[in-house]
Amino acid sequence: MSSHVSSHVSLSQLAPDYIRAISPYVPGKPISELAREMGLNEADILKLASNENPLGMSPKARAAVTRVIDDIALYPDGNGFALKQALSRRLGPGMDSFVLGNGSNDVLELVTRAFLAPGFSGVFAQYAFAVYPLAIQSIGARCIQVPARDFGHDLAAMADAIADDTRIVFLANPNNPTGTFHSGDTIESFLDLIPEDVIVVLDEAYNEYLAPAQRYDAIAWLQRFPNLVITRTFSKIYGLAGLRIGYAVAHPDVADMMNRVRAPFNANSLALAAAEAALDDEKFLQRSYEVNRAGMTQIVRGLEALGLQHIPSAGNFVAFKVGDGAGVNQRLLKQGVIVRPIGGYGMPEWLRVTIATEPENTRFLDALAVALKA
Ligand SMILES: *Cc1c(COP(=O)(O)O)cnc(C)c1O
Repeated sequence: MSSHVSSHVSLSQLAPDYIRAISPYVPGKPISELAREMGLNEADILKLASNENPLGMSPKARAAVTRVIDDIALYPDGNGFALKQALSRRLGPGMDSFVLGNGSNDVLELVTRAFLAPGFSGVFAQYAFAVYPLAIQSIGARCIQVPARDFGHDLAAMADAIADDTRIVFLANPNNPTGTFHSGDTIESFLDLIPEDVIVVLDEAYNEYLAPAQRYDAIAWLQRFPNLVITRTFSKIYGLAGLRIGYAVAHPDVADMMNRVRAPFNANSLALAAAEAALDDEKFLQRSYEVNRAGMTQIVRGLEALGLQHIPSAGNFVAFKVGDGAGVNQRLLKQGVIVRPIGGYGMPEWLRVTIATEPENTRFLDALAVALKA
């Protein structure tokens, strides 16, 4: 028998107040969990909850994983030389401008750990990606949440909200879960307003889904704005969410600070190889982009046909209003369809769905029509 059963100490009390105040991140429901709960076959479940690529991974990434799998007993290259070299060649900045992470989530935490401490604050928008407040709170720094405007970031208000103790501002463009987007010109004008001693983290997890007319080159801005940190991921269009790999591009001095707080070997060998291969798979990227374009049109039309309001989205997902988000979600789950309730974002009347292939989108829309009736 263990002795800790009779402990009178509330162990959670041992954690600092700011840790106890954190509400844990709620991920999309895994297929295996729903299968257990509802007695469904995993193969019959459609997961549209985490903005994963419905086409799976790039065949080039699959081949790369197969090539390196025999080396799994060895530690990976802790500096990620090959992937950084590939990123540097493709994107321009030198290898010392890149920081690799166990998903870009890791990179968002690294920038927070490197530049925040108790006594400092971080600014982000209402309805912004949930990881920003989590990262700030886990440091014991203060969160400054700025009310949204039409569900998007109110950039002028965010610039105004910067306090003397602010060291980081987080922007997601496009934002998740709302899909809202600001043009490159608008973001650039925002950067002009931000003091040099405040780091601006521009989270571009959905950058590759932008239409040609929406595209902008944030990396070129690093010359003028050394306080800018751009984060990107291989989890979304590249189809590698399960491997956990993302990166930041920043001024070498900023990247240096982030690398100091990085865990050794935070990017694993399968992820490094797969990401390097995926980066070059233009064909897969193009097809993924086109499937998303067509699917977005299909889903938006379907939502409109059901009389539902949606927020125009620049990503591979869309938020739509159903009234009773929890109830509709439950009735979708019964039909084996997993979407994302976003009550945790203060949007209990809304759900978020990931755009998928044509037959999958059709199944979702049919299930939604049923779920709305009950
Ligand atoms: C999905 C997502 C990320 C990245 O997730 P990782 O899998 O950790 O790379 C980052 N930011 C936003 C806004 C996202 O939606």
